[in-house]
This record gives sequence, structure tokens and C-alpha cells, in this order.
Amino acid sequence: MLKAIDPMTSKEVDEESFQTFQTALRGDLITPADPRYDEARTIYNAMIDKRPSLIARCENEADVIAAINFARHNDLPLAIRGGGHNGAGLALVDDGVVIDLSPMKGIRVDPEARTVRVEGGCTWGEVDLATHEHDLAVPSGIISTTGVGGLTLGGGHGYLTRKYGLTIDNLLAVDIVLADGRLLTASADENEDLFWAVRGGGGNFGIVTSFLFQAQPVSTVYGGPIIWPIDQADEIMRWYRDFITDAPEDLYGWFGFHRVPTGSPLPEHLHGHHGCVIVWCYTGSLEKAEEVFAPIRRLGTPVLDMAGPLPFPALQSMFDQIYYPPGLQWYWKADFVKELGDEAIELHKKFGSDLPTELCTMHLYPINGAVHNVGRADTAFSYRDMTWSCVIVGVDRDPANAGMISRWAKEYWSALHPHTAGGGYVNFMMEEGQDRIRATYRDNYQRLVAVKQKYDPDNLFHVNQNIRPSV
Ligand SMILES: Cc1cc2nc3c(=O)[nH]c(=O)nc-3n(C[C@H](O)[C@H](O)[C@H](O)COP(=O)(O)OP(=O)(O)OC[C@H]3O[C@@H](n4cnc5c(N)ncnc54)[C@H](O)[C@@H]3O)c2cc1C
Repeated sequence: MLKAIDPMTSKEVDEESFQTFQTALRGDLITPADPRYDEARTIYNAMIDKRPSLIARCENEADVIAAINFARHNDLPLAIRGGGHNGAGLALVDDGVVIDLSPMKGIRVDPEARTVRVEGGCTWGEVDLATHEHDLAVPSGIISTTGVGGLTLGGGHGYLTRKYGLTIDNLLAVDIVLADGRLLTASADENEDLFWAVRGGGGNFGIVTSFLFQAQPVSTVYGGPIIWPIDQADEIMRWYRDFITDAPEDLYGWFGFHRVPTGSPLPEHLHGHHGCVIVWCYTGSLEKAEEVFAPIRRLGTPVLDMAGPLPFPALQSMFDQIYYPPGLQWYWKADFVKELGDEAIELHKKFGSDLPTELCTMHLYPINGAVHNVGRADTAFSYRDMTWSCVIVGVDRDPANAGMISRWAKEYWSALHPHTAGGGYVNFMMEEGQDRIRATYRDNYQRLVAVKQKYDPDNLFHVNQNIRPSV
């Protein structure tokens, strides 16, 4: 017997399996008829408007297993939702099942072992608050509302990267539900091939229900933004290029072009200000911080210097108010960069001095320092020999500007692309096709295909930057 689950598409599933699934699921099962449906299918990027047939809000591993088995049995496409921040909207799928992990919020810190176990639905802000209680932190990104799941599985870079590596370099183990419904642990000594693949290979291999991380001794850091006017961007960018390649590993700083948005938490006289920024995070001794920042402070004439001591979670959430809540139109393109030549700087200046909206931006995130201590074949994340992960982000609140910001990001990226390493960070990609995915993984790609073939030969997990199985 078949049962209709979506009146819009007349999508039908096997009734018996639906009953079994509904009975087994501890969390909520949301159909298009449910008044919560639109809220449940809202993700960070408001440009994405997908209509799943079912959204299964999973509360535990058993729910995840039941949802995978149901989707597989009914041949329904399946998407995995962690924090819902993926720019390409890969947390959702049309006419399929969304396995929404957001109710899975367990976090357990072991201060003795300096580890933290995190369930698949957590955001980084939630983890930061739990670890900060113990003067610890796990390297993640630069915005606290991003999901642990997607960020980690793609690699993860942010404020602690030069000192402690990528997020995956601090990952000790995962519990993962496979396409056939089996639950496995993958770590350095168990299912090593799978552990290699999930460290950079995204959600291709299964659903991670819990992550075990090594936490690092980070509590109060010295950091924050220093902003210069746009006419000093040339001097600042050239200085930054040389400085960050040799800077001590406990000093991190990402470079960006910006227009300070109206209503942002930055001082009002700067609203609308067009400039460039370096956002710093120094994890060395606080007594030495002023000395470390002295040469930085001699640069140009900053219009704002907010660098100072602050708790790590405060730095992590400093820009949440600008780039949150969701509802922004978002289109981004990325590439890894080894060297920032003079020609590339000229192009950056051209585009960076003419940002089309207040929220459009370009960021250069350093991925040198400790990232280079791990070999490029040691995890699936291939571009370890780079200096920066560059992202160009078209952002605006008005849906009418979606086309304009996308075109701007593509033009900026196309001009810069010949000056880059050729592949981009998988977590900063839209749906850009197989060639771009191969370019991201370079010589790790074939090994990823082999692991995919072993653990997901029918490509059940294909709503992602997809590694296709070989057969
Ligand atoms: C404002 C903003 C700031 C960002 N800053 C950074 C940054 O500083 N550093 C950085 O590295 N990245 C950053 N990102 C990119 C971010 O890493 C990706 O967008 C990532 O996909 C978000 O993860 P999520 O869980 O929120 O995504 P979701 O949209 O929920 O999921 C995206 C995909 O990840 C996979 N996935 C998620 N959870 C699981 C799981 N438990 N098991 C298996 N697969 C899973 C699935 O394939 C899913 O389709 C940022 C993104 C935004 C929007």
C-alpha cells in the first residue's frame, strides 16, 4: 500500500514502512501539511527555497538509523542538516527526507583528558561555551552560529588554525551511521579508512551522530578587528601578505574588505565606512601581547582598533550580529591561495574598493602554521600546502539583489582564479559541478572514491559536494 506524504507533489511512500518509521521516531516528523513546515525548512541562506517531503527531527542515534532506513527503503533522496549554514543549501532536498540533527545537542567535556564529545546538532557557539568553562577551546571557525557537523567534515578553519591546525586535526573519533543503517566508530585505530575520509570529505560517507575532539588550552585571547580606510588597503594588504607567512603560530589574523553595515554593533560613526580589516587572535602570553601588536599598530592610520584581551567565545561570536540571524541572500565562491602576487593584489583592490552592498565581502583566512604539520595525504583535506583560503561572498538582505550579488562574486572570482591554486574549500562552495569537487581534493580524490564505494556504494548520501562511487 502506498501513502501520499506531500500534497504538493503527490509523493508516495510504502505505508507500512511509514508507520514503522513514525512509531520508531522519538523526535518530530514534519510534513508539508504541518504548520511548522516553513520554519523547519528555513536555513541560513535565504536564496535557497527547497521543499522536502519529510523533515525528521532526530533526537538520538536510533532516530537517525530509522530515518536512513526509511529513506533507503523508499528510494527517497536524503539530506543531512547540522547547523543549516551551508551556502549551497545542502541541508535540504526537494521531494525527499531531511534528517535534521538539530535536537541532538549533547556536549560532554572531560577536563582531565581535555576532550569534548559533541552531538551532531550542535553549533560552535554551544561548544565554545561548554569548553570555555574549563579554559579550553576546539579550533573551529569565526562565527558561532555555524554547525559543528558541516564545518568539521569539510575541514574547518578559524581563529585557532595557525596554532592548533584545522578542526579535523583536533578530531579524535566519530560515531557514524552508514547508508545500510549500521553504526560504526571511526578513529585512528578503528575503521581508519573511514576516519581518513570524513576528515575533509564532507557528509559523503554517513551521518555523524557524535564527534570526539581534542580541546586546546585557550581561554582569554588578545584579539579583535583593526580597521583601516580603503585608500590604505594597498599598503595593508602588502604588509599582511609578508607578515602572516612568517608570524609566530600563536598569532592569527584574517584579512577582509568591508563596508561597515548600518546597524552593526561597531561604533555608529563607522557605519557605511568602506575599508579593510584584519581580525586578530593572539593565543600567546597576555603579558607579551602589547609588544606583539606594537608593529601592527604602527601601520597606516587605523579608524578603529578593537584588539585587546577578551574571552575566546566573545571573539568567536563578535560578528554574529552582522551575519546573523538567517534570512540573508548568500552566494560565495572560493579558492586556495599559495602566494599573493602584486597582480592579484591589484585585482583585490579593484573589486574590494567597489563592494556592491554593505554586506558583500572578501576574506583571506590563513591556513599556514600548524596546518602544514600534517601531510596533504594524511587526511582528505588536500590543500594543506597553501597560505590562505580565500572566499568572495555576495551578501544582501534584499532578495531582489540575489542576481546582482551572485554576478559580482562570480566576476571577482573569475578575475582572481588564474592567480590561485585551482581548487576551493569545499565548505565555501555552491553547487559547482564535479570538476570543482575534483579540483578541491586533487590527488586525494581517487582514494575518496574508493572509500565511498566501500561505505556508500549506492550513493545514498549524495546531497553534498558529492564524491561518486566508482561503479
Ligand atoms: C556565516 C558563515 C560563516 C562561516 N565561517 C566559517 C569559518 O570560519 N570556517 C569554516 O571552516 N567554515 C565556515 N563557514 C562554512 C561552513 O563550514 C559550512 O557552511 C558548513 O557546511 C556549515 O555546517 P552546518 O552543519 O551548519 O551545515 P548544514 O547546512 O547543516 O550541512 C551542510 C552539509 O554538511 C554535511 N553534514 C552536516 N552535519 C553532518 C553530520 N553530522 N554528519 C554528516 N554530514 C553532515 C551534510 O553533507 C550537509 O549537507 C561559514 C558559513 C557561514 C554561513
